[in-house]
This record gives sequence, C-alpha cells and structure tokens, in this order.
Amino acid sequence: MYTFELINDFTMKIIDEYDEALYLIEGEDKVLCIDAGMSKKNLYEYCLNFTDKPIELAISHGHLDHIGQSGSFKTVYMCSKDKSLYEKHMKIEGEGHFSNEGLNILPVDQIQEMPSVFHLGKRDIFVHPLIGHTPGSVIFIDPADHFIYTGDALGSGCGVWMQLDECSNVKSYKKSLWDILKVFKEYNVDEEWTFFGGHDKQEFQSKVSSYNPLCLQLVKDMHKLCVGLEKGSIELEDIEIRAMSQKPYYAAYNKAEIITTKEKSGK
Ligand SMILES: [Zn+2]
Ligand SMILES: [Zn+2]
Repeated sequence: MYTFELINDFTMKIIDEYDEALYLIEGEDKVLCIDAGMSKKNLYEYCLNFTDKPIELAISHGHLDHIGQSGSFKTVYMCSKDKSLYEKHMKIEGEGHFSNEGLNILPVDQIQEMPSVFHLGKRDIFVHPLIGHTPGSVIFIDPADHFIYTGDALGSGCGVWMQLDECSNVKSYKKSLWDILKVFKEYNVDEEWTFFGGHDKQEFQSKVSSYNPLCLQLVKDMHKLCVGLEKGSIELEDIEIRAMSQKPYYAAYNKAEIITTKEKSGK
C-alpha cells in the first residue's frame, strides 16, 4: 500500500507501508523515481497514477528496503559499487518483513550504471557519491528546486547507520562528507535547501531533539562528529539495536547522530 504527499507541482513523495520514502520527479520529457521501497505492491503501476511520461528508476544504494520493487520498472540505474550488496540483499530470506518474499527485484545484470546526471526535460538531476553507509551510496541534487535526495547516506533524521559490515569506517566517511560539502559549495547549497532522506518520519525519532530534519547544518555537524570520534573528544554511548553482528554504539554532535562500532570508530 502506498500513500503520497505533493512536495511541489513536479515533485512527490511516495510512502510505502514500511515508511520507506520514495520520490517522483517530473521533467518535461520523463519522470525519475528515486528508490523502490519494499512493498509487495507494484510500484511502477502506482506511479502510472500520476504520469503518462516514461518513468526511470534510480536506486540510492543496494539495501533490500530500497530495491524491493526494482523489477516493476523497465529502466533501472544504480552505482555498480553496490552490485554485490544488491545481489546479497535480493536473496535475504529473513524473518518478519525484512525478507525478499513477495518482492519484485530486478536481476542485477539488468541494472544500468548510474549516470552523473538525469536530463528529465527542462529539469536536470545531478548524481554524486556519498560513500559510507554502503560502498555505492549516491545522493541526487536538484539545483532548480534546491532539493537534495540522500537515501540513507546521512540517515533520515535519527542518525546514520554506519555499524553494518558493508559500512565504511568513520575515517573514510569523514572524507566522503568533506567531499560532499565541497560539492554543495559548487551548487551554492545553503540552509534554505531541503534534504529528503530515504525513510519517512525518522526526523521525529532523534535523540538530540524532538524534530531533527536533514539539512546542511546536519551534514557539517556529521563531519565534525567524525572528526571528534577520531580525535577522541566525542564519546561512544551504548545503544540497543537488534540483530547486529558487532555491538553498535551511538554518538552525537549538535544535529548529527551516528551508529557505529568500536572497530569502525578506531576505538
Ligand atoms: Zn540502507
Ligand atoms: Zn534504508
């Protein structure tokens, strides 16, 4: 089951029953869908309710909760650095809802390499790597509307998950954040721009404030958080998260929150 929220006349957020946030961006010639959620309902058919233009799918990263309906689209893009993760996740037969049962996932060899820009017709969406959460995580920049779609690369308002085996260590993530802050400068990103994460409603689940949406300041704080963890000026705190191969820890700095492990944080 899907619901939708209009962001503006040409941009829509689609939310599936697991609160995965997907985005439809319409140009004059075609429509880009960002991420494929993990509903059992056909996502492509749902998108046809809103447009008769060709729809292409771009996947922010290869985790199961972002690829579940990739097979309902004809044209699908993802960074090739996440292909092995995608293959692993499409085979997950987990318990509960985090399972491939009933999903429609495109075989990995039919996925095309992510381009650096999507020309949608009088609307260009630029793609940049923001590695860390996964090796092939990307973000999408819409300079005309001052929107940035970040998947799970920064979390969705209650901390970025960097404790999983496929996540990079704090030191490498710090470098990626520095690189993306330089990219933001090129686009003149400021505090007025809106960031959209891959999971809906998580900005209400932050430990640092009751409402903590993604924003430029949060990215800057995330970089400082990584610096502080490396230097030892910011401490790791205990946190309970189920089913992790390594014990996860939490750390925060101003708006930024991270879940990592002792090993990845260099402790
Ligand atoms: Zn993810
Ligand atoms: Zn996710």
